[in-house]
Amino acid sequence: MIPENNRIMNYPRKITEGVYLVGNHFFRSYLVRGEICALVEAGVTWSVPQVVKQLEELGMAPEELQYLIVSHAHFDHVCGIPGLKRAFPNLQILASEAAARVLVKTKVVTGFFSEDVALAKNLGDKGQVMQAVPIPDPPVTINVDMVINEGDKLDLGRGAILHFNLLPGHSPCSMAAYLPLEQVLFAADCGGYPISEDTIFPMYFSGYEDYVTGLKKLQNMESSVLAAPHELLLSGSREISRFFRQSLASTVQLYEVILENYKIGRSQDEISQGLFQRFYRGGLANYSTGNIRVCTDLLVRRTIGAENFCQHE
Ligand SMILES: [Zn+2]
Repeated sequence: MIPENNRIMNYPRKITEGVYLVGNHFFRSYLVRGEICALVEAGVTWSVPQVVKQLEELGMAPEELQYLIVSHAHFDHVCGIPGLKRAFPNLQILASEAAARVLVKTKVVTGFFSEDVALAKNLGDKGQVMQAVPIPDPPVTINVDMVINEGDKLDLGRGAILHFNLLPGHSPCSMAAYLPLEQVLFAADCGGYPISEDTIFPMYFSGYEDYVTGLKKLQNMESSVLAAPHELLLSGSREISRFFRQSLASTVQLYEVILENYKIGRSQDEISQGLFQRFYRGGLANYSTGNIRVCTDLLVRRTIGAENFCQHE
C-alpha cells in the first residue's frame, strides 16, 4: 500500500536535513544539499519552470547547483535537461555511459521531445498543467558532462556523498543513487511505476532477470526514504520494504501471466494489447498511447525472450 499522505505533497518540500522534493506529483526531482548542490532527476520540459521557481523559494542561488543526475535516457527523465541547463549556468550533466551514448543520437532525442509534447498535451487536456507548457526548442542531442560507472561516488561536501549503482533491467542505461548519510534511495524507474494504491506497473523493458536482480538490490539497501521519480515518496524502512516486495511480486506475476497467455497460443500483439488495457490508467494515461504500447510490447518480448533463453540452457 502506498499511503495517501505520501501521494499528495506540497512543493518544494523538505524531506530530510539535506534533501528536498521539487517538481510536481508526476515528475519529481530531488535537491541534495551538501556544500554544493545536486539535483536528481531532470523531469520534462514543463516541470522545469516549477523546479526553477521552487529552488529559488528554497533560497538556492542558480550558481549553487552544480550537478544534475540523469537516472536514465527515457524521454520523461531527460527532456528537462536543456531548460535546466539554461537556468543553472554551472550545471554539469551526470549519467551512465550507456545513457550518454543514447543522448547523442539525433533521431532518438528528437523522438523524446515529440513524446514530451504529447505528454504535456494529455495533461493539459485533463487540466492538470497549471502553467503554460513551454514549446521546446529541441536540441538535436544532449551532452553528458560526466560519465558514471558502477560504484562511483559523488562528494557534495558536509558528508553528503551520493553512491551510484547501475541497474540495467528497466533500460540498459538505468542507475539508482543512494545517499548513505540520510539513507535516501533515489530508485529511478527501477522500482516500477505506482499506478494506484495497490498497482505497480512492472517495467522490465530491457531485461526481466536484470530487473528482478535490481529490485532485490534496491530492497536490500538500508533505506529510510524512497525517493522515486513518479508519484511516490515513502519513508520508513518497513514501508519501503513492503513496496519492494509488492513490486517484486507484481513483476513475477506479470511475467507468468504473459507466459501463460503465450503458451495457450495468444499472439504477442494480443497479449500486449491486453496489458495496455490493464495498465493504461492513472499516471500512465498521461503518456501517449503509442508510448505505452511500446512499453507493453517490450514486456511481452522480454518475457518470451527470457523464457526461450532458459529453455536453451
Ligand atoms: Zn524509464
